[in-house]
Amino acid sequence: MNGRGMVAALLADTGDEEWLARVPGRLDTFLSALPGPVRAAVQAAATAVDAYAVLHSGRRLAALTPGERETVLDSLVARPGLVPALDLLKVPVLLAAATERTPAPRARIAPEDPPLDCTPAEEWPARATADAVVVGSGAGGAVAARTLARAGLAVVVLEEGEHHTTASFGRRAPLDRFTELYRDGGATAALGDPPLLLPVGRAVGGTTVVNSGTCYRTPDHVVDRWSSRHGFHLAQGFPARLDEIERTLRVATQPLDVLGTNGLLALAGARRLGWRAGPLRRNAPGCKGSCQCVVGCPTGAKQSVQLSVLPEACAHGARIVTGARVLRILLDHDRPGRPRAAGIRARRADGSELEILSPLVVTAAGALQTPPLLRRSGLGGHPRLGRNLSVHPATSVAGRFMQPVTSWEGVLQSTGVEELHDRGILIEATASPPGMSSFVLPGVGRALRRELEGADRLGILGAMIADRPGGRVLGRDRTVVRYRLHPRDGARLMTAVRAMARILFAAGALEVLTGIPRAPRARTLPELDALLTGITPRDLHLSAFHPAGTVAAGSDRERAPADAEGRLRGVEGVLVTDASVLPGCPEVNPQLSIMAAALAVTETYLEREPSSRTSTSA
Ligand SMILES: Cc1cc2nc3c(=O)[nH]c(=O)nc-3n(C[C@H](O)[C@H](O)[C@H](O)COP(=O)(O)OP(=O)(O)OC[C@H]3O[C@@H](n4cnc5c(N)ncnc54)[C@H](O)[C@@H]3O)c2cc1C
Ligand code: SF4
Repeated sequence: MNGRGMVAALLADTGDEEWLARVPGRLDTFLSALPGPVRAAVQAAATAVDAYAVLHSGRRLAALTPGERETVLDSLVARPGLVPALDLLKVPVLLAAATERTPAPRARIAPEDPPLDCTPAEEWPARATADAVVVGSGAGGAVAARTLARAGLAVVVLEEGEHHTTASFGRRAPLDRFTELYRDGGATAALGDPPLLLPVGRAVGGTTVVNSGTCYRTPDHVVDRWSSRHGFHLAQGFPARLDEIERTLRVATQPLDVLGTNGLLALAGARRLGWRAGPLRRNAPGCKGSCQCVVGCPTGAKQSVQLSVLPEACAHGARIVTGARVLRILLDHDRPGRPRAAGIRARRADGSELEILSPLVVTAAGALQTPPLLRRSGLGGHPRLGRNLSVHPATSVAGRFMQPVTSWEGVLQSTGVEELHDRGILIEATASPPGMSSFVLPGVGRALRRELEGADRLGILGAMIADRPGGRVLGRDRTVVRYRLHPRDGARLMTAVRAMARILFAAGALEVLTGIPRAPRARTLPELDALLTGITPRDLHLSAFHPAGTVAAGSDRERAPADAEGRLRGVEGVLVTDASVLPGCPEVNPQLSIMAAALAVTETYLEREPSSRTSTSA
């Protein structure tokens, strides 16, 4: 089935709508930008759905009338085993359809970004030296680079992704930016039961370029647990470091005037229930409410690290090599005792390689990429490396309101509801550019099209669950993620669905949409309770945005691949400063915790190795 066939089947396209005619072209462009394995998965899903049509009706979908197609697809929805295949088709079709139906306004003139010292890998010499190389320019890498550069070290940051400016975000449609800014075109997934989508960024600035800008400080009880139970004593110094990071990112409570109806409804619903809620603290001074944070802020308001931390690192001499995938950490085995880091080898896009010799290597490739990098480097021997993955699994519920919500006008992640936080559930009003929500509209054919046409009346909430670390990152050259949802966390997700529905009903929703194909909608809470009987967490659409813990730091050498100060065990001169190093789920959106950890690890390194402050690089 090609793009046209998918749109005809899923949206009952009979050629009567002008915007629908553009969707197949948009879909084909989007699919062609996805990596081969993802395209193959979508194609396999299309083949499975077509095969079901043949079994059910004796003909392929394309040979059926629109009415017959709908009957076939409706019967498919009742077969839980085939629903994932249908959803795999629905997600890209909805992305393309919503983009064509509700084009995002182009940004006005964008402000100029603060300068960075970026060099494309093609222009970087094949051999160079540095005092420190940092692998990855995201939350943890940027803070590590700034700290080391401020101390006088000659720092080179290697980033596999490219540098994108604020102006470039304003010039292109959200969907066109999507595939470029995310690894695997945004289709990174964790295998498991249920599987979950686990997108991560790939650009100068890492995942902070595409994050929602929400800024939570590490909760006190998490700091205490990391310190006392895991022996990650650096966490005790987090409060002052979080202050410093908050100053750099210009964190403040989001003013109400640009919050948008989605956030205001969440606030009203929570307040009517008497629940703790408020506008979120964010790193977006002057936010214009353009709701595009997850595809790069087109106004420059969101202080992702390429606008806040990395410019200061560069002002202190750090250099960034873009489009350079680090293949391995080089090791010096000729010294007595443990091997010592000697630099890195990286590959350019054209396949050629470069080396940077350096006595200090900081790994900050993210919790899904750092373990494979360490394995490629012969440093993957610790039995817990790649294990202990927590992801903060999330699910969404939508409410249909009488009045327009137009959730894509306002702050993308706007209101936080903390009533159930001490039970591990954090609810946030989270909208998205049209079609990009992790909430999948129910139905197929004309019903799905009606949902799409009524999407401006939907308010959307998301909930994240503080999870037990049930995942594992496997692989050397390609990352494979496995994740097993703990029954306790499954129960938390079901509680979260009900809690989100309560907020939406309290705010005046006429009905709630659960995103669960077998139980799509309810008009009252009792109806929802009846509907959820027999539904398990496996039926939920799950995503996760906060992988952490895969090279955890701690005092127990058996359990923690990194020591209590974030140094990788078994080697000299390798620090871990990304989300991998966190001992567990921070229970809140993690960027501040990751940055505080990066600051703590690098500052402690500088205290222990004062001689490293004298630059030796040529
Ligand atoms: C859609 C979305 C929304 C989010 N919203 C929020 C939010 O509102 N608030 C919040 O606190 N958190 C949010 N997060 C999470 C947060 O942004 C991340 O947890 C954080 O950025 C992770 O930091 P990191 O340093 O571990 O890795 P990253 O920021 O992911 O950086 C890793 C970098 O390393 C690069 N890299 C990987 N491998 C290599 C290699 N071999 N060679 C060279 N470079 C390499 C990658 O390309 C990437 O740029 C969100 C995440 C997503 C996906
Ligand atoms: S809501 Fe819009 S203006 Fe505000 S930070 Fe996000 S992308 Fe930028």
